[in-house]
Amino acid sequence: MRWSSLFIPTLRDAPAEAEAVSHRLLVRGGFMRQLQSGHYSMLPLGWRVHQKVGEVIRQEMDAIGAQEFLLPAMHPASVWQASGRWESMGDEMFRLTDRKGADLALGMTHEEVFAGIANELNSYRDLPQLWYQIQWKFRDEPRPKSGLLRVREFAMKDSYSFDLDDAGLDVSFDAHHDAYQRIFRRLDLDALPVEASSGAMGGSASIEFMVESSAGEDDVAICGGCGYSANVERATSALPKVEDRPGGDAPERFATPGIRTIAALSEAGHPPEHQVKTLVYRVDGAITLILLRGDHPFLEQKFVDATGAVEVVPADGDEIRAALGASPGSLGAVGVTGLTIYADESLRSRSGMTTGANEDDVHLEGVDVERDVAVDHWLDLRSILAGEACASCGVALRIARCIEAGHIFKLGRRYSEAMDVTVLDADGVNRVPTMGSYGIGVGRAMAAVAETHHDENGLVWPMSIAPYEVVLTVVKVDHEESMGCAERLYDELRAAGVDVLLDDRAGRPGVKFADAELIGIPLRVTIGPRGLENSIVELTARTDGERHDVPVDDVVARLVDLVVTGRSAGR
Ligand SMILES: [Zn+2]
Repeated sequence: MRWSSLFIPTLRDAPAEAEAVSHRLLVRGGFMRQLQSGHYSMLPLGWRVHQKVGEVIRQEMDAIGAQEFLLPAMHPASVWQASGRWESMGDEMFRLTDRKGADLALGMTHEEVFAGIANELNSYRDLPQLWYQIQWKFRDEPRPKSGLLRVREFAMKDSYSFDLDDAGLDVSFDAHHDAYQRIFRRLDLDALPVEASSGAMGGSASIEFMVESSAGEDDVAICGGCGYSANVERATSALPKVEDRPGGDAPERFATPGIRTIAALSEAGHPPEHQVKTLVYRVDGAITLILLRGDHPFLEQKFVDATGAVEVVPADGDEIRAALGASPGSLGAVGVTGLTIYADESLRSRSGMTTGANEDDVHLEGVDVERDVAVDHWLDLRSILAGEACASCGVALRIARCIEAGHIFKLGRRYSEAMDVTVLDADGVNRVPTMGSYGIGVGRAMAAVAETHHDENGLVWPMSIAPYEVVLTVVKVDHEESMGCAERLYDELRAAGVDVLLDDRAGRPGVKFADAELIGIPLRVTIGPRGLENSIVELTARTDGERHDVPVDDVVARLVDLVVTGRSAGR
């Protein structure tokens, strides 16, 4: 294509609200524009990258035998009601009503719809099936931000596997795991597979593919010793043993006027690791106590994953006073009956502890947790902290900010049961197939590449997804011999299947160089009168910016070689 006739609206400055590098550069480079918060228009350059990312994903899905579908983005409420997610998705789901009053949803994912189609599978001989699509999804994200990283409307590759049994699901899951690693290698993304929370999807196991980046929204615990890695929503660690303080036969009350916080109680001689922190939550309508060690943060996702609770909100002051008779700062669970009590595992067998007495300005000391508190459920509820020891090997864990680039789930039979999917097994018995579900956000992958491939001059696309692979920059467009040479190279490169952009715009060479760097074209050939006197053009790779003189007659072969090598990198 000729730059002079393309729409590439580059900007000198990024929009003020753009914080993430990918957001700034994709807007400045003319790849996309915001329609409204969380919704972006892909301009021609952006759409070329988007399409190429989709194509890499498509090729690797096809390679594991997955079959491409395209399902509607708009769904009847009935399929979501069948799985129970019409309720549980809450405000995340966009809902609308048609002229007949029928309830509809814009799809956030397609487990229900694919499982509905799987009704037409009859026999174990029809299994396994791997089905996928690249389709637009909608999510009523409360705080869209960071450009393509957190949006309300996005293209996603979602795939679904149907197998007769767990062994089959393992095979489908592993095939996706390997395909995802190949996809991310080809996108030149360093994506670490980590243990993850399955969240609203449910199921027995899930793995996220995480790209380390300050623009990310997830924290991942990484062990440099044994390779353990997990989203902090799921991560565990080994705690050093705490020597319990001595305590008597029963807790003892002591006055704590004005003491309301863990820190203040610590200053009064009760260190946080010897305190029991009492949190009061409303869990699916019921007032519930959640106990943790004084210095341990509560991680709500772990609680949700372990209990299946849908609504988990901190109780307000009135609810707390009604339930426990005191205000926050003096709360405790000793002697409490009639409320469900959850305690973090790290409190097990602890004694000599201090906690609130459910009377303002009074605490209890010498508490033996198992003796004095009627704990109903012991769970892992704490958020781990950087520097804590790996539970497997003891090395200190690092916590890294990451972008979630992919997520794969072993779902089990939840959705196939909800949609009444059965097949006959070899003995003629009806069996419910087990499912997996696997996602990669196309735009988010594109943004993750932008986050990790740029310098002070702009984007540095890997060859596999660059909008154009080569740019021919003509220094003086009114110099006949230069334009003649550029046209010839352009034709030869196009004939060789190279995505080539001819910068035939009138204008200062400096501006043209800066634009080519901003939009991140991997290879640039500079064609100018001085070089042509010696039949020379200049070849520059975007990655290092070094200039190399190349004879005009050799440059097409050199470029084709570099493009072919670059395209297959990571394969
Ligand atoms: Zn380790």
